Amino acid sequence: MNFDLKKITRPNIWNLVPYSTARDEYKGKSGIFLDANENSFGSPLEKDYSRYPDPIQVDLKEKLGKIKGLRAEHIFLGNGSDEAIDLLFRSFCEPGVDNVIICTPTYGMYEVAANINNVAVRKVSLIPETFQLDEQAVLKAVDDQTKLIFVCSPNNPTGNIISNLSILTLLQNFSGIVVLDEAYINYASSPSMIPELLRFPNLVVLQTMSKAWGLAGLRLGMAFASEPIIDLLNKVKAPYNVNVLTQELVFEALDNLSLVNNRIKETVAERKKMATAFLSFPFVKKVYPSEANFLLVKVDQAQQLFQFLQKNKIIVRDRTAVSLCEGCLRFTIGTPNENSEVINILKSFEA
Ligand SMILES: *Cc1c(COP(=O)(O)O)cnc(C)c1O
Repeated sequence: MNFDLKKITRPNIWNLVPYSTARDEYKGKSGIFLDANENSFGSPLEKDYSRYPDPIQVDLKEKLGKIKGLRAEHIFLGNGSDEAIDLLFRSFCEPGVDNVIICTPTYGMYEVAANINNVAVRKVSLIPETFQLDEQAVLKAVDDQTKLIFVCSPNNPTGNIISNLSILTLLQNFSGIVVLDEAYINYASSPSMIPELLRFPNLVVLQTMSKAWGLAGLRLGMAFASEPIIDLLNKVKAPYNVNVLTQELVFEALDNLSLVNNRIKETVAERKKMATAFLSFPFVKKVYPSEANFLLVKVDQAQQLFQFLQKNKIIVRDRTAVSLCEGCLRFTIGTPNENSEVINILKSFEA
């Protein structure tokens, strides 16, 4: 693998001179700030939001970095992981020319972001039933125009971890970027691949505050990568992409690591309980092993079950139309009470 960041970056992005914010020029915290055309009289609210947020989120990155074992220079923060995904396309993929590989069935946003950016998508199927990577098929789909390979682990909607060995094979044999989406890694029994960033300059790891941290409404996604890749993403992003409230509230939330870890344990225990409970129903054909906060369940008459659940105000994700997930519904793991209620209602479903 000979990775050359300049070679895979769009030339206009490589040469881009980023927008320089007013605060880039003065680092002091006190003073009379008349440089950004903000409203010095303040906000019409109890709390003052009249000042622009820190464009590179220094305090938040430092605190996050301690938890993740990374220096701030290796961290990009965005308006959800979705922003990081979009920025990867905009930084590396020339519209109408380049392509990316996704390993299906997987998270839908990779393809949507590709379509928005007019970038071709090459779909390589995961191995049926085990949903593991066919790394030789993935590498065979690569050509000179392939810039990104997306791997989601634990994978959505299947729930399984992708074997580390096959991800390493991609990293070793692909001279573009492997984007490893670890949105659900906190629920998995195997660790994050963040430590591999030291060995592989072509690895980008995505994580999010939306799942295990329970902060989906605040929109904070993270990308971890080499410093030059992070610099590129920072250059392309909107200058003030993470708002003041999000930065403050996530900063505060990070003090509650043990609470979050306890809830992860409880979710994993509920996942086991739910998997067993599902299997007791005659209309359940298979519960796929999951290392995430959801279960993919194969049932008889999936459409009818989906409608039945919805009538009973239980909303799950219908994956029946997804190739290799035929007949499957995806159930997020709820609270113990919610889960018991789901099981109770399922008792009255007649397939
Ligand atoms: C939920 C999810 C995310 C999170 O996206 P955000 O924009 O950070 O909320 C990312 N990747 C996958 C695979 C997901 O399922």
